[in-house]
Amino acid sequence: DQSIADLDPDIAQVLDRELARQQRTLEMIASENFVPRAVLQAQGSVLTNKYAEGYPGRRYYGGCEEVDVAEQIAIDRAKELFGAEHANVQPHSGASANAAVMHALARPGDKLMGLSLAHGGHLTHGMKINFSGRLYDIVAYETEAETGQIDMAKVREVALAEQPKVIVAGWSAYTRQLDFPAFREIADEVGAALWVDMAHFAGLVAAGLHPSPVPYADVVSTTIHKTIGGPRSGMILCTQKWAKKIDSAVFPGQQGGPLMHVIAAKAVALKLAAGEDFKDRQARTLDGAKILAERLQAEDAKQAGVKVISGGTDVHLVLVDLVNSELDGQQAEDRLHEVGITVNRNAVPNDPRPPRVTSGLRIGTPALATRGFGPEEFTEVADIIALALTGGADLESLRARTAVLAERTPLYPELQQY
Ligand code: PLP
Repeated sequence: DQSIADLDPDIAQVLDRELARQQRTLEMIASENFVPRAVLQAQGSVLTNKYAEGYPGRRYYGGCEEVDVAEQIAIDRAKELFGAEHANVQPHSGASANAAVMHALARPGDKLMGLSLAHGGHLTHGMKINFSGRLYDIVAYETEAETGQIDMAKVREVALAEQPKVIVAGWSAYTRQLDFPAFREIADEVGAALWVDMAHFAGLVAAGLHPSPVPYADVVSTTIHKTIGGPRSGMILCTQKWAKKIDSAVFPGQQGGPLMHVIAAKAVALKLAAGEDFKDRQARTLDGAKILAERLQAEDAKQAGVKVISGGTDVHLVLVDLVNSELDGQQAEDRLHEVGITVNRNAVPNDPRPPRVTSGLRIGTPALATRGFGPEEFTEVADIIALALTGGADLESLRARTAVLAERTPLYPELQQY
């Protein structure tokens, strides 16, 4: 039985180089994080060998006695952490969780109302060529041009006019907290189901640093790999009323065999999410985003046409509008890449540039908080970003400052090369 280095050096080298890349650079893609070693161990385990169609105690395969334990622990921890009546931990990803949610809440052709993709909504909330846009009748609400925020009176207007079957509250690029009680009221007024997709901010909710949608929504979906910092995967929480429909929408409606190694890793991540270190990390995540938003609104940034959408942030990310900057989204992303900081370009509302270029950036702090960043390090990285975007310093000196931060907060020091 050969090691990967002997059997497949091409892939072993990719693993080594990717580890080095993660260690050397500063990760500020808002949807990314670093999983702890215990999660890597569960995900790289023999549980990957097991077929377990069905649910704990109700499987269609023999030999599920051990994986049943892992899945039940994951379910119990999810319910406890978020105060949910029911949890399904089988979705392979956020997108497959969302496909199952729509399968449970609506029929093809029914109307789904979500935040416009161009204003920060997710592909699965109604993009034309996504399953959501192809199967359902999509209507959208938007953010306000002046404030960059969602106006609940406008959401209500759209809902009253359109009478959707399902309203989704959730986003991939938005910097303020959603008003869940108001969404609930509007859903009740038009007789819609309320689905909250908390993929991005679930970690903040778990830490008590963001209002929880669970008491208000019929169904809540999430990923586990963004602010929570667990394995790449999804999860659905719901009230008892929807439990059967959600379970059968996931399996057999949407998926076959669950990824038991990932479910075990989810259980580990959910255990950590209930702890004090996790709360501290989420608090540093929020502080870091606020520090960054403030620095990007200083005079030099304003002069260079850099604008912070919504004028700040209540969450783990900052949205930068570069419509009036010399740099477009692609150039800004490349500039930061050159100094060792990874971010993603992001369309701004009514973006004049095409989606492959864009006029904005989305910059997140969860991965750096996991790495150990506190206010001092976030202040330094915010200054590096501001100077890179304004042309206020040469890139060589900024790259050196990035390297100092990376060395100060070692990542996976215990991991072996392959
Ligand atoms: N929902 C939201 C709000 C997201 O931002 C994302 C990912 O970016 C997803 C769902 C999909 O998650 P995944 O990439 O795991 O399919």
